[in-house]
Amino acid sequence: MTLTQKILIWMLAGLTLGSLINAFTPDVTFIQNFLVNGLFHAVGAIFLNLLKMLVVPLVTFSLICGVCGIGDVSKLGRIGIKSLALFLLSTGLAIALAILVAENIGPGKGFQSTQNMENTFEAPEAPPLTQVIIDLVPGNPLAAFIDGNMLQIIFFTILFSICLLMIGERGRALIESVEKLNEVMMQMVGIVMSLAPYGIFAIMAQTFALQGIGLILPMIGYFCVVIAVLIMHVAGTLMVLLKLLGKVSPIQFLKKVRTAQLFAFSTSSSNATIPVTLKTLEKRMGVDNSTASFVVPLGATINMDGTAIMQGVATVFIANVYGIELDLLDYLTVIGMAVLASIGTAGVPGVGLIMLAMVFNQVGLPVEGIALIMGVDRLLDMLRTAVNVTGDAVVTLIVAKSENSLSVSIFNDPNAGVEKSVRLPHDVMPGRQI
Ligand code: ASP
Repeated sequence: MTLTQKILIWMLAGLTLGSLINAFTPDVTFIQNFLVNGLFHAVGAIFLNLLKMLVVPLVTFSLICGVCGIGDVSKLGRIGIKSLALFLLSTGLAIALAILVAENIGPGKGFQSTQNMENTFEAPEAPPLTQVIIDLVPGNPLAAFIDGNMLQIIFFTILFSICLLMIGERGRALIESVEKLNEVMMQMVGIVMSLAPYGIFAIMAQTFALQGIGLILPMIGYFCVVIAVLIMHVAGTLMVLLKLLGKVSPIQFLKKVRTAQLFAFSTSSSNATIPVTLKTLEKRMGVDNSTASFVVPLGATINMDGTAIMQGVATVFIANVYGIELDLLDYLTVIGMAVLASIGTAGVPGVGLIMLAMVFNQVGLPVEGIALIMGVDRLLDMLRTAVNVTGDAVVTLIVAKSENSLSVSIFNDPNAGVEKSVRLPHDVMPGRQI
């Protein structure tokens, strides 16, 4: 059985168990205290921490190897511009599709709210664009690494790597050491991934024990439209882009991207999924480290197709609920704001709602309306994060193909890089115990 199949089975088991607990034993203190908020919570949180623990060192070492592997600043600039253009294109298409579909279906018309919507959602202020740009440059790189500020880490690491190249032969030993460190980090990703079935089981069991499917019912219209557009975007827009611009098989891609999607779905965090996305793209799909190490962390931070879709549908939904007419200019503002907001915010759980508040402020929609969709947001967050990560992977593949850094034979080999069981040191080096 492959790791992905194992994860899927444990995930469904967690989902079922959690839903059963929610339906039948919501008041049994023992189950709530010891299982849901005890065991499941602890195992899930430890697993999430294990994943997050890998992100900063992996991105740093991998990016140093990537930039030094490219060895040419103009090529690096080209990769940057191509990725940025594709990120903007796919996010723009995603939100436009969402608005178009939602406008036609009209979720929220005649909606009767049973909730008290007064002031239950605090509206954050959108940072000005100048601040977003200023914040790309870390005043203190250590603080950037400690906070895990991805854009600042990318900025510092690229500059560091370029200078490493500039010192020529004297930098060679350091580059070789970082290559080894990168290999060690990849090995760690393998170990953490092999624990994923249990971690994901615990996260699913806890989430569904606390959430319950019942929450969805009053919001079923909104919920279904978001899901429909998410599916249309992945199966339609992204696959057309992949076929047209990347010229590789979308079917093969969908088969191989599943592991990263499952991680994204269960962690609700593109950032925490970076190690798995990187490993999937490099080992399973044959993307060269020089492209993947740069495009993947950048995408996790600034490319959020799924989140943009939720924002598009939510805008139409709330406007319908409050009976507010939006004109073309409003919609264009929503599209522009959603794309900009995704650049300045990290891919972590629940950030989509904060971005939505920024968008609403801009077009003058009532921010307290967000309280309505908060109840179902946890589940939608899981789904849209899987779409966010799929978008990152598609853009990485297209850029890699255009830069000749995609091995088509690895991409087409169904067994390339399949996760095998982890070999501990005494298997690798017989006779040596650690
Ligand atoms: N959880 C999403 C991500 O990490 C962001 C969001 O939509 O809330 O990509």
